[in-house]
Amino acid sequence: MALSTEYLTSAELFERALELIPGGVNSPVRAFRSVGGAPFFTRSAQASRLTTADGQELIDYVCTWGPAIHGHNRLEVREAIAQALNRGTSFGTPNPYEVAMAERVVELVPSVEKVRMVNSGTEATMSAIRLARGYTKRNKIIKFAGCYHGHVDSLLVAAGSGALTLGTPDSAGVPPSFAAETIVLPYNDVAALEAAFAEHPDEIAAIIVEPYPANCGLILPLPGYLQKLRDVCTQHGTVLIFDEVMTGFRVALGGVQEREGVTPDLTALGKIIGGGLPVGAFGGKAEIMDLLAPLGPVYQAGTLSGNPLAMAAGVAALDLLITEDPYTRLEAAGAQIRDALEGVAKELGLPLQVPQVGSMFALFFTEAPVTQFESALTSDKSMFNTVFHYALENGVYLPPSAYETCFISTAHTNSDIEQTIEVLCHGMKEITR
Ligand SMILES: *Cc1c(COP(=O)(O)O)cnc(C)c1O
Repeated sequence: MALSTEYLTSAELFERALELIPGGVNSPVRAFRSVGGAPFFTRSAQASRLTTADGQELIDYVCTWGPAIHGHNRLEVREAIAQALNRGTSFGTPNPYEVAMAERVVELVPSVEKVRMVNSGTEATMSAIRLARGYTKRNKIIKFAGCYHGHVDSLLVAAGSGALTLGTPDSAGVPPSFAAETIVLPYNDVAALEAAFAEHPDEIAAIIVEPYPANCGLILPLPGYLQKLRDVCTQHGTVLIFDEVMTGFRVALGGVQEREGVTPDLTALGKIIGGGLPVGAFGGKAEIMDLLAPLGPVYQAGTLSGNPLAMAAGVAALDLLITEDPYTRLEAAGAQIRDALEGVAKELGLPLQVPQVGSMFALFFTEAPVTQFESALTSDKSMFNTVFHYALENGVYLPPSAYETCFISTAHTNSDIEQTIEVLCHGMKEITR
C-alpha cells in the first residue's frame, strides 16, 4: 500500500502536518524552533545516514535521539523483528522474549536484580519514582536543574533542552502542588545537596539524576560527586535512582554505573534497549522491585509492555553490543571529533567547550568548562545555530538545539568522521566571517 504522503517534499509535508498535528511534530524539539527554519522529513535511514524527503543524504548525529547505537536499519535487528513478526505482534500474555530481555538487563546492569519493561523512558522514570515513594513512604524527591527525565508531571521542573527550547522551563498543566514535592538542586554542588538533606532529613524518598546529564548539552560529574550522592542516600534511607535512559548501553554495557563504579538502588532505561522500537525499563534491588503489583502495593501496568516485536529488537541490539564490544572504537571516534573541534576553535579564537564521553559529545560556545545547568546556559546559541545550519546544508545533521548531545553510532565510518570534522570546522569559520 502506498501512502498518499510518500512522494511529498519536506516543505509540503510540514505544511500539511502543521494543520493536523500541534506544531507539525509529535515531539517538540523536532520542530527546529531553537535553531530556526523548518524541519526536514526523513524518508528512510540506513547505517550512519538519513535520506530526507527531498533526497538529501545526511550523516546523522542525532541517531533517533540516542537509540541508534548500531546506526539505522541494522540487518540483525531488522531480521530479529521480522522473525518475531511472523509469530504475531502482541499477545497480552507473558512471552519468551521478555524473559530473554530481563536476563540480559540483569546480567549487564550492575544495580539491576529485577526489571520491569515499559514502553518509554518517561514511563520508566515515572514508575521508578512511584516505587521509591511506595518503598520509603515519603513524598519528596530531589532532581537536578537541567536533567530531563521525560514528561512526568513532578519531574517537569527545570528540565533541560525540550523545555528550554520553548523558553518555558516549567510546563503549564502541572499543578504547583505536584511540583512542590520536587526539590531542584544544582548538579555537581555538594553543599546544596547537604543543605537539602539538613532541611528535610526524613522526607526525601528519592534522588533522581542523569548520572551524566545529557539533556542540556553534556555535563560530566566532578570527581567523587556520584559517590557522594550514593553516600547521602544510604545515610538517609533515600532511594538513589540513576536515569540511564540515555547513557544505558551507550557509555558502557552497564552504563554510567559500570563506568563510575557507583551503584544506584533503581535504574531507569530506555532508548538503546528498544533497538529502535518504543521501549523503556526500570529495575533495581529485588527488595524494592518486589513491592510492585502483583506482589506488592505499588501499582504499575502496560497493555503493550514487553511487546514481542520490541523485545526482539532490543535483545538483538543488546546482543550485538555484547558480541562486538564497540566501546573502545566509539570512544576513539568521540575523542577524535572533540580534539579536532577544540583545536580549530583555538586557532580561530572561538570560545568552545566540547565535553565528550564515549560516543556522546556536545558543543558549548563558552569560555569555561560547563559543570552545571547555569554554565550551560552561557553557551552562545547564535554561534551554535550558525554551525548547525552550515552543517545541515553540507550533509551533516547535528541535533537541532544548542542544548542537546550528539551521538556517534558504530555505523559511522572513519570517512564519515573525517568528513564531519571538515564540515564542522568550516562551519566554525562561518561564525568568524
Ligand atoms: C529521552 C529521555 C527520557 C524520556 O524517554 P522517552 O522515551 O522520550 O519518554 C528520560 N530520561 C532521559 C535521561 C532521557 O534522555
